Amino acid sequence: MGKRDYYEVLGVSRGATKEEIKKAYRKQALKYHPDKNPGDKKAEELFKEAAEAYEVLSNDEKRARYDQFGHDGVKGMGNGFGGGGMTMEDIFSSFGDIFGDAFGSFAGFGSSRRSSSRRVNKGTNLRVKVKLTLQEIANGVEKKIKVKKYDACPSCGGTGAADSSSVATCQTCRGSGHVTRVTNTILGQMQTTTVCPSCGGEGKTITRKCPSCYGEGIVQKDEIIKIDIPAGVGKGMQMTISGKGNAARRGGVNGDLLVVIDEEEHPELIREGHDLIYNLFISVPDAILGTHVEIPTVDNNVKIRIEPGTQPGKILRLRGKGLPDVNGYGRGDLLVNVNVWIPKTLTREEARYVERLKDMSSFVPRPDKDDKGFFERMRGYFQ
Ligand SMILES: [Zn+2]
Ligand SMILES: [Zn+2]
Repeated sequence: MGKRDYYEVLGVSRGATKEEIKKAYRKQALKYHPDKNPGDKKAEELFKEAAEAYEVLSNDEKRARYDQFGHDGVKGMGNGFGGGGMTMEDIFSSFGDIFGDAFGSFAGFGSSRRSSSRRVNKGTNLRVKVKLTLQEIANGVEKKIKVKKYDACPSCGGTGAADSSSVATCQTCRGSGHVTRVTNTILGQMQTTTVCPSCGGEGKTITRKCPSCYGEGIVQKDEIIKIDIPAGVGKGMQMTISGKGNAARRGGVNGDLLVVIDEEEHPELIREGHDLIYNLFISVPDAILGTHVEIPTVDNNVKIRIEPGTQPGKILRLRGKGLPDVNGYGRGDLLVNVNVWIPKTLTREEARYVERLKDMSSFVPRPDKDDKGFFERMRGYFQ
């Protein structure tokens, strides 16, 4: 079907000014306005045609392309109105203010409906839980998860219609998606605007449904989704991956995929924010004489030195061996809580050795002013 020349549609010359184009469009739009021509298909076509012409000619860039290349030049530009896919809703939301107060008294149309938000179908959100090891949290990880979700029906492309001739503008609301009802009350006339009951606000009805999806426009399928999880996430955090949720019924925008983070418990390390805690036990002789011990970290083991005379309760801080901040603000530490293992049972020979230690002056307890282990621990409890 050939399109009419846009200048011809608006009845202006090729050299018309922006103001002239706007005036011409306003005239056409008022003439073919659906409120003036209820149920008139021809008027609706002309109303849409004028809006399409105005959409192109009121935009300098589009007008220049149209002047040079004709209709092909503006096909697929901007919001795609140039392709002829402009709905009544599009027209009112884009150019509603051109009508001024002419239709202000109509709640359903004209300038007053600009304020009512355009109904856009949105698919529902999907929520999945992903359990991560401490190592995955420390380094970040790419997870592939299988989700059962609604996708646009491949047979009808999500429209729900058997073919393009099976979609018609809703007769109840004439494509607006809203109906206005006037009722007489003791306070006078009351006007209420509600979502059109025939089309559910979509402005279109389907005369013959797509057999694959029974007119819903969506089908359920399994999809494997790759999720890039950044380092430093924590239990209960939620990531939103927009557009990866369920598709909307009969077109619209997809819902989101919400990924909730869970943590697997580490056998040896305890997480405390960005820091990790390791509970170390050393023997009495090692505490007295000093030693080297291996400490687990998220990635590998590291060897640390235990000073001679280390008191139980001492906390050794391994800087930067904790978890990274999810926003990139540095890295936590690994805190090693040093315990000294006191044997609970002894052989007779062992007991004899320990007895002899009692008499030695170095084994008499005394407060150690250099050891802050106790204070560090107590502060930790109350923070
Ligand atoms: Zn279908
Ligand atoms: Zn309707």
